[in-house]
Amino acid sequence: MTPVTWFEELESLLPGRAVRDEASLAEASSDFGRMIARRPAVVVRPQSAEEIARVVAFARERKIAVSSRGQAHTQSGQTLNDGGIVLSTASLSRKISIDKARRTARCDGGVLWRDLVTAALAEGLIPPVLTNNLGVSIGGTLSIAGLGISSFRHGAQTDNALELTVVTGSGEIVTCSRERNRDLFDAVRSGLGQFGIIAEAELALREAKSSTRTYFLLYDDLAKLMQDTRSLMASDRFDYLESWCVPCPQGFRRMGGEPTAFAEWFFPLHATIEYGSEAPPDDTRALSGLSYYKHVHTEERPLFEFAARLEPLFWLWKRGGYWANAHPWMETILPWDGAAAYISQVLAHYPPHALGGGHVLLWPSRGTTSQTPLFMRPASEFVMGFGILPGLPKEFVPAAAPLLDRASDLGFTVGGKRYLSGLVHFDEGRWKAHFGEQWPKLHDLKRRYDPDGILNPGVLPV
Ligand SMILES: Cc1cc2nc3c(=O)[nH]c(=O)nc-3n(C[C@H](O)[C@H](O)[C@H](O)COP(=O)(O)OP(=O)(O)OC[C@H]3O[C@@H](n4cnc5c(N)ncnc54)[C@H](O)[C@@H]3O)c2cc1C
Repeated sequence: MTPVTWFEELESLLPGRAVRDEASLAEASSDFGRMIARRPAVVVRPQSAEEIARVVAFARERKIAVSSRGQAHTQSGQTLNDGGIVLSTASLSRKISIDKARRTARCDGGVLWRDLVTAALAEGLIPPVLTNNLGVSIGGTLSIAGLGISSFRHGAQTDNALELTVVTGSGEIVTCSRERNRDLFDAVRSGLGQFGIIAEAELALREAKSSTRTYFLLYDDLAKLMQDTRSLMASDRFDYLESWCVPCPQGFRRMGGEPTAFAEWFFPLHATIEYGSEAPPDDTRALSGLSYYKHVHTEERPLFEFAARLEPLFWLWKRGGYWANAHPWMETILPWDGAAAYISQVLAHYPPHALGGGHVLLWPSRGTTSQTPLFMRPASEFVMGFGILPGLPKEFVPAAAPLLDRASDLGFTVGGKRYLSGLVHFDEGRWKAHFGEQWPKLHDLKRRYDPDGILNPGVLPV
């Protein structure tokens, strides 16, 4: 008689949920980074916390790796494994229930933020913080942090989570919140899927206003942009602040004896006010005292269109091939003092063509609006996020990666912390530099909640 393999056992334990067809395995072997390929033995598509718990108990007994996977928009293989189980939460995305009176939403962990926004807006509500890409899962962003252009007011998405239903690495289903099982609540938020799988989340919502007005401002001087964004954050004049660094290529200059491409960099700032039935914003007041080089445009949009404002860009990326390219994204969060010097130095040495079809993000925020313990950020009152987000043919990655790794290391030297969804080439020293005093705690949490180390092995050296 042919012996029954563990994946056949799993298939019979969860008929129809555990699959091994070529299309499912191929899809689960890659992520948005398109730099790493790992092929699992089985993809499981659970429908409930109980089904997740059965998978985890099964895997624990046999010491099989379980990688949780939302939409796999991470870029360094965080959702991948070789020969284990990929637990795809895309199947866990039916429940979205809005409590208008309490201003909360209860959702399955695999729900996409876009679907939550649609359901919440129908009740006149909206999540306080949205990522630029709404096509990602609630469980996925809560496991990293979930930053948005209103984070300077409302923190990360993890700060707006109220209660989570989690399946731990020991296979237990636990409800946790700030009041209940706080240790687990603090471990899974920004916990990189290391301590449990978020099956369900209760999230805070706020009242939504119907319209937005965005001022498209262009700066030719990073110091002026930083001065203005800092005073705008302090005054709460705008509801959203979104910024970039854009290169104006200047040709080649000699560096180290080699002709090297370089650019003059400019800094767009999109400053947005959300408004409802009250009078529209007063433009003169909104823009008074700001030191931009040019007011390029003013855009009026309904709130949903504003929340989904980057979808036309993502559509162009998909059409133009950028989406299918490799994405060695490097994002760091810098203390405000020192950010301008760091950014200027990195940009001066970053040849614009090394971005491929990508862009460079700036994310002015407050360092004090997030209280998520494992979302590491500098301890300063204001912080500046800086992200180099290239999209390149895979064969160009070996040339670009050292530049990005150097920028990452330089960030640590000025007190920066990395955003961990991107290109993470860390040895143990860098992990320690990133997690600082939380580092020993991570080991304790891992022993407690995932004693056999089956959840997302290989991502963190714990
Ligand atoms: C075009 C684009 C724009 C982006 N913009 C932003 C932005 O504005 N702000 C921002 O913060 N990020 C942004 N990101 C990064 C993105 O939000 C994160 O990578 C996020 O994790 C993606 O969600 P996901 O569903 O794809 O998660 P995945 O990549 O599938 O998973 C992320 C991590 O969480 C784990 N995980 C997934 N689901 C669960 C679960 N239910 N329980 C426990 N662990 C789980 C995974 O194992 C993995 O380690 C962007 C990414 C892209 C590609």
